Amino acid sequence: MTTEEIMGVPVDVLTYDDIVNDLPNYLNNNGKKMSAISVNPQIIVEGQKYPEIYPFIKRSTHRIPDGIGIVLVSKLIGGQIKERVAGIELMYRFLEYANKEKKSIFLYGAKPAVVDDAALQIKKNYPDLKLSGKIDGYTNLTEEEIIQKINLACPDFLFVALGFPKQEEWLARNIPRLDVSVFQDVGGSFDVLSG
Ligand code: UDP
Repeated sequence: MTTEEIMGVPVDVLTYDDIVNDLPNYLNNNGKKMSAISVNPQIIVEGQKYPEIYPFIKRSTHRIPDGIGIVLVSKLIGGQIKERVAGIELMYRFLEYANKEKKSIFLYGAKPAVVDDAALQIKKNYPDLKLSGKIDGYTNLTEEEIIQKINLACPDFLFVALGFPKQEEWLARNIPRLDVSVFQDVGGSFDVLSG
């Protein structure tokens, strides 16, 4: 996989298919963890304010070019990124895969009614995946309790929708202690899914 530096931030040259085709390498209980992280203009411009974020992006496995600005900068510097890979589209591709392969997912983030409704919509549209749990992004549970709940559910995919920079900071701290194969930060995607 080729990586480009966009204003000092690593972004990978990849397509939706490249990422989905990589899933089996992470979903066979070998302990490997995929982190599919959106690199968008906001992260590039504001990321340095938050000390955990750039190191986290550097160690993530799939840094997706999630913004037309990223594609344009790549073009300007003679890079190879040709197309935006949108976080929400990638989430749909992961849900399709989970449905086809009967994998389990967990949703964390957004307002209680939003995550409930997103869960309902997902169950309706992807009936063969397993929804192993959900926690809203304003819960009174402690971080420790959230980790315990997710690890008890042991999902294949964890989608985190806490917005920037909370979701990146949360993932940076917690991926090492989560028993999950595929992580994605999804911003406002639960709001979109819930309609
Ligand atoms: N959010 C959350 N907890 C918080 C802050 C935000 O669950 O403490 C959720 C919010 O409800 C929304 C999502 O994070 O569903 C994305 O928020 P926002 O639109 O602010 O982030 P962006 O999409 O700009 O990253």
